[in-house]
Amino acid sequence: MPSSIAVVTSRGAKRLAGGHPWVFRSDLAEAPNVPAGAVRMADPRGQPLGWAWWSPQSEIALRRVDRDSEAAIDRSWWRARLAHAIARRAPLATLTNACRLVHGEGDGLPALVVDKYDRWLVVQLLSAALEAQRAVIVDVLNELVAPDGILARNDASVRAREGLSKQVELLSGTVPEEIEVNEHGVTYLAAPWTGQKTGAFLDQRENRVLLGAHARGRALDVFSYHGSFALHLARGAESVTAVDASAGALERARVNADRNGITTLACVEADAFEFLRESVVRGDRYDVIALDPPALAKNRGSIAGALRGYKELNLRAMRLLAPGGLLFTASCSYHVTKAMFLDVVRDAAADSGRPMILRALTGQPLDHPEVLTVPETGYLKGLLIENGG
Ligand code: SAH
Repeated sequence: MPSSIAVVTSRGAKRLAGGHPWVFRSDLAEAPNVPAGAVRMADPRGQPLGWAWWSPQSEIALRRVDRDSEAAIDRSWWRARLAHAIARRAPLATLTNACRLVHGEGDGLPALVVDKYDRWLVVQLLSAALEAQRAVIVDVLNELVAPDGILARNDASVRAREGLSKQVELLSGTVPEEIEVNEHGVTYLAAPWTGQKTGAFLDQRENRVLLGAHARGRALDVFSYHGSFALHLARGAESVTAVDASAGALERARVNADRNGITTLACVEADAFEFLRESVVRGDRYDVIALDPPALAKNRGSIAGALRGYKELNLRAMRLLAPGGLLFTASCSYHVTKAMFLDVVRDAAADSGRPMILRALTGQPLDHPEVLTVPETGYLKGLLIENGG
């Protein structure tokens, strides 16, 4: 007799025991006879396995949220879980007014993203079970954070796999088109309704500070978006060039530079691969370079092509580095592992013919927790490299 409990195969139960919260549809021995939402799980012998988000249409059928089957997934559960995630970010409060409050599985709240931009929140509900609990999530966020408004950037393509529609929707209060972000003394405008991700790239905050501390001479920000690295580089460099393929992003970079009183920024609308190639041919030299491409590997099938892309970009950037110059190079492709990225940058260093020194290896900041047993929570890696030649 089908019940409201999800029965998980012993293979699925083993995966849960290993610290990974997902149960794939192929490991669902018996589907619960209830709509999307929170359900209890059990193994084939009836042993309780805790609570999970149930997604009837998704390949990821269940995402465990609580190991305790006796827990009640109610308003006070949500309050405790969200308050815990928010408390984790407390050290950032004096450094920035924008950070990720909830990083999905990284915060024990699978498929939920909550980003804070000053007095506003931008959320992403990326599973059918969360959509079913939307009211309580909004209610508790209003209680805990008291924002002026909450926007849902539910236009992420993964929603389709859950059978959910794509939409950008105001959930509470009002949210402006642009929000001023203060990040370690630099200000820029985030665009919550239309910008990439939820309006800005919060995950590179500390890396911008890291590279900014080394800024001097001629600086280059490749894949600049709205100039986030460039603004930090301009604090110490004599000149900064920001390169991006998006004219709109560069327009905002210019506005952001003005807001910070920066007069040394040059914006170049170009394909970054081409720009770097031509700069190498011209024999240009830079003292500091940020190289932060979009995810070149969107899926497993595109890893090989992505690695060729990373190799080209990094080799060209290394060739542009003045002796003693510093390159910060990043990959945000989940499918390109830390080891793969290090290998590809090593290959580029070999071809550059110069001794490239690894100065720092960076991962995700405090507000984007990467849980070791849940590889999907980690995607961003960065290397700070010095041209020792
Ligand atoms: N460094 C930025 C984030 C970069 S996101 C920050 O810290 O905020 C990636 C950027 O690459 C986007 O702005 C996108 O417009 C740009 N982009 C994508 N493909 C490109 C290409 N081939 N050449 C130049 N820019 C590109």
